[in-house]
Amino acid sequence: MIIDHEKLELLSKATEPGQSELNSILKEASKGRGLGLEEAASLLAIKDADKLGELFKAAGELKERVFGKRIVLFAPLYLSNYCTNGCTYCGFRAQNRDMARRALTIDEAVAEAKALEEMGFKRVLLVTGEDPRWGLDYIAGAVRAIYEKTGMRIVHVNAPPMDTDSLKELKAAGAGVYQAFQETYHRPTYELMHPSGRKKDYDYRLSVMDRAMEAGFGDVGIGALLGLYDYRFDSLASIAHSLHLFKTFGAHAHTISIPRLRPAEAGLNEVPWRLSDDELKKVVAVFRLSVPSAGIVASTRESAPFRSELIKIGATQLSAASKTNPGGYKGEQTLEQFSTNDHRSLQEVVRSVVDEGLLPSLCTTCYRVGRTGHDFTDKAMAGEMEKFCQANAVLTLKEYLLDYCVNGSKEAVNKAIDAGLKEVKDEGAINEGLKEVKDEGLKKVIIERLKELDEGKRDLYF
Ligand code: SAM
Ligand code: SF4
Repeated sequence: MIIDHEKLELLSKATEPGQSELNSILKEASKGRGLGLEEAASLLAIKDADKLGELFKAAGELKERVFGKRIVLFAPLYLSNYCTNGCTYCGFRAQNRDMARRALTIDEAVAEAKALEEMGFKRVLLVTGEDPRWGLDYIAGAVRAIYEKTGMRIVHVNAPPMDTDSLKELKAAGAGVYQAFQETYHRPTYELMHPSGRKKDYDYRLSVMDRAMEAGFGDVGIGALLGLYDYRFDSLASIAHSLHLFKTFGAHAHTISIPRLRPAEAGLNEVPWRLSDDELKKVVAVFRLSVPSAGIVASTRESAPFRSELIKIGATQLSAASKTNPGGYKGEQTLEQFSTNDHRSLQEVVRSVVDEGLLPSLCTTCYRVGRTGHDFTDKAMAGEMEKFCQANAVLTLKEYLLDYCVNGSKEAVNKAIDAGLKEVKDEGAINEGLKEVKDEGLKKVIIERLKELDEGKRDLYF
């Protein structure tokens, strides 16, 4: 993977497209096959409010065609805040000597996962600082223990870059997505922001997704920490990264995250390249149109009302109820990595997604049935994921209703299930070994499964 700085610098200074150019780019994007860097650069140059409106509308529509109305919900679980790196923006950096350091024991990690399970979560993303004392064995041990001792259905990992053999071990422990953010693809800024520790090595970090794919991770998650450098450069570089993975391995990045720099204890005083809400919305919409198969993840770094906007223009995943300190879900008060901006519970986030006319989903199916890597990319690009997503959202929302939802939200969630069911096209085209669906019609089978859930069965999916 090589980042062509000269080309991306040039493209990030692209001029705003005229109306006919915009029309033709949006027409191309609506086919759902993605966009090239030149087209993405043009879209990122839009300033005019009407044109921005057209961009957001196109992205929202494509999202619904690819994934239906579903918005997937998950929670991060911070294992350890020990870190030997010097990332200038992060509360966990080694130079922040005043902060209390804490690494959960494996039992404590399990207890955190159980606390999340009790809220209704089915997927968790493990997060750590970088310290060899809490490296691969520790992280893989936590992944295994959480599967063994809790009802979590999928465990994803955001962990520092490793060599291929270590990534193979992490995969063998059952990790779903391997996620690591490049922070900035702009080499000079990267070097400025990462003055010490192993993370200093730009190339080792940039190449980790290739190693992850070689190690058997079909699904990898990329992202740039927006605000460190020009958002246009880093957005285009993220798209270039995904295009590289597609060209080399046949799979686009499974997720692209959009972390925007937040205040952190002893972190940077100023955001070097601040980007506005409209600019972040533009990034989301351009990612959606450029890499239609990618999940776009909006974290609690963003406020509740703003996240409601993002899910209408292409974001597909929300973290919820997040604590960014180890032990946070059991009430520990250690320092957070950065301050979060949306403190709502899972139940409140579920409710607000429903209020936006969308469908909250706790689905974890694809990772568990092997619909990953190039298979997932191909299906999403061919428009074949929408039915799976919609059907599984309905089923997992029903489980949530039965097992976790408390009075205030029950009626709204029930209505959302009905509305979600109505939208399922009754063609019975979900196959992949589910022959009964092929024969009987999808909606009918979903209704039967909803009944089975009522009768006490759990974990039904397509
Ligand atoms: N330590 C590992 C690493 O750096 O790859 C794992 C993840 S780190 C705990 C998670 C992510 O948080 C980082 O990759 C970075 O993008 C983000 N982050 C760090 N400081 C932040 C801040 N002040 N505001 C927003 N996001 C931040
Ligand atoms: Fe450590 Fe990650 Fe924070 Fe950098 S971003 S200081 S590597 S925890």
